[in-house]
Amino acid sequence: MIKTLTKNLVWYRDKLVRHVVQNGPFFAQRLIVKIVAKPHIAKYRGVNNRGPDIFETVFFELRTRCNSHCAFCAGSVENEIRPDQHMPFAVFKKGIDNLKEVAFRGRVAFHITSEPLLSQDLPAYIAYAREQLPKVWLQLLTNGRKLNPSSGTAVLDAGINEITVNYYNDACAANPDLPLPQNIQKFESEVLAKRFTHDEITTGHGPDPVKGFGVFRYNCNRRRENEILSNQTGSSPNKGMVTTKNFLGFCHSPLTDFHITTDGTVSKCSKDVFFTDPMGNIMDEDIMEIWNGSRFRTVHKMLLANDRNANVMCRGCDYPGFKTIHGKKDILKRLLQHSIYGRKME
Ligand code: SF4
Repeated sequence: MIKTLTKNLVWYRDKLVRHVVQNGPFFAQRLIVKIVAKPHIAKYRGVNNRGPDIFETVFFELRTRCNSHCAFCAGSVENEIRPDQHMPFAVFKKGIDNLKEVAFRGRVAFHITSEPLLSQDLPAYIAYAREQLPKVWLQLLTNGRKLNPSSGTAVLDAGINEITVNYYNDACAANPDLPLPQNIQKFESEVLAKRFTHDEITTGHGPDPVKGFGVFRYNCNRRRENEILSNQTGSSPNKGMVTTKNFLGFCHSPLTDFHITTDGTVSKCSKDVFFTDPMGNIMDEDIMEIWNGSRFRTVHKMLLANDRNANVMCRGCDYPGFKTIHGKKDILKRLLQHSIYGRKME
């Protein structure tokens, strides 16, 4: 009886929040956002509301190409309009050397709107990052199409700490009993299973709270190619821009992430697929000069004020903008995100 009542209440709560987020009045949408954003703003506010001293993750886009066919992504095979460019080693080296100078201890990843395993020199780039930044977590996020025993062994030998596969295939996502493609299966059975003991490999992200860098993390997620996600500030092929006043405010991305594309240009966030609102270029300035520069700090200030209407790109963006704050189960945040991702726009 109590179980049924609770289930019904949860159902009505979820339905109400979804309705408010998708169709409700502006003040009610803002209220939900304010409640959800409060602890996130507190976490990233920094001294004097200035934002964090340093980012958490640096993303290097080593090649402006992907080999997947996702309907939601401007970087997929059918939708890509950028020229095919590679990051020269000198650009990567400048970025890594800058991170070494400031004793960076966060995460380095090798993707933005692109597939890192399409970059032929990837193992050499990873090896350099490993050598210069032994205390940085190196993550490879891949769609898995080019992952096989040979490519997997090369990145493992180079010193990667984590491989996360987002395998985009509608049939596989709908049916967990369908096998993964042979190349991924072979990587798992011929490389991972032989290289690591049960205790040495685990799922999840980042260093283990107890074992630190003493674990290797491997995740394989089945995802749909035809999902509707965020609008990527209007570049997502299956979703439109926010055209009314945006009820969303805070966004973590420019406060936690640092995105560098092939020529060294830095964007404010991953949703600026084409780097049209650059924060600087690491070949002209050091990374920390860009981070502390007026362009980044203006965006930080705006988002910490829980408003995204002063920046043209942010104003049209429906990315919910909340990271998981560890140890907290935030039901309202989850509902907000799900409602936005399911939200159709003109
Ligand atoms: S709101 Fe959108 S455009 Fe603005 S920083 Fe966040 S993800 Fe980027």
